[in-house]
Amino acid sequence: MVNRTERSPHGIEPMSAGKSLENRVALVTGASRGIGFAIAQSLSEMGAKVAICSRDAGRLEEAAALLGRAGSRVLAVPADVTRASDIAALAEKTEESLGPVEILVNNAGIGFFAPAHEASEADWDRVLDTNLKAVFLVSKIIVPGMIRRRRGDIINIGSLAAKSVFADGGIYCASKWGLLGLTQCMAEDLRGYGIRVSAVCPGTVATEFSPHAGKDIRKMLQAEDVAHAVQVIVTQAPQSFISEILLRPLQKP
Ligand code: NDP
Repeated sequence: MVNRTERSPHGIEPMSAGKSLENRVALVTGASRGIGFAIAQSLSEMGAKVAICSRDAGRLEEAAALLGRAGSRVLAVPADVTRASDIAALAEKTEESLGPVEILVNNAGIGFFAPAHEASEADWDRVLDTNLKAVFLVSKIIVPGMIRRRRGDIINIGSLAAKSVFADGGIYCASKWGLLGLTQCMAEDLRGYGIRVSAVCPGTVATEFSPHAGKDIRKMLQAEDVAHAVQVIVTQAPQSFISEILLRPLQKP
């Protein structure tokens, strides 16, 4: 086992958990609130320059103002990740203002919980376009630069719903199971270029996304717990590849 306080036997310097992300550029989708906001905040606090997006421009600006207090540079670009033209503008503005993206967190996602046979085609498209196709579209535009630089981290926010099945979960589970398949295949495509593609799969997190009436909020996973998992991924040693993190609350809420 590599002693993390010393050089590895292969002469590869392990990164310490506290290593700053100074001057690194991160893009976090869906970061006006909830998990995406917590991830953007933690990357900012580690010194990264962070670009954030969401559809609601007002709420995004409020989030950017809060993040700016940590002292790092934050760029807020209103964008709908289901629209290729919005993604192109988001990527262009990020590179112009902050530099090439080295850390991409595909976090934007929506829920849909009802029997699949009662859902409309529009429901299917909305969920699959946001939770799965958008990850393909955003990654497609960011990956070529990472390949050129032989470096990058892509972290997709999956869900334990990508590992399980439940009534009313058909469309959401389809999107997250699909996301996990995409993540694992892209990881194989890109590892040779020094790019890690990984998934963080949380159980229910206390955000606006998940109704938590009747649950003990102190026992629930918090958005910051997901941000911590992302932090672990982006601070691992260069030779290490944490491909997936499953995150559960210790006590059932
Ligand atoms: P929230 O609803 O709290 O936040 C979602 C964020 O994504 C908002 O900033 C929202 O802003 C943005 N967003 C949604 N659709 C789009 C879009 N088309 N384009 C750009 N931004 C968009 O959700 P959470 O923070 O809880 O969830 C974040 C991720 O974590 C999702 O992928 C979700 O599936 C996953 N997850 C959540 C769990 C939970 O229990 N909360 C558990 C497991 C996984 P706006 O609406 O303004 O666009």
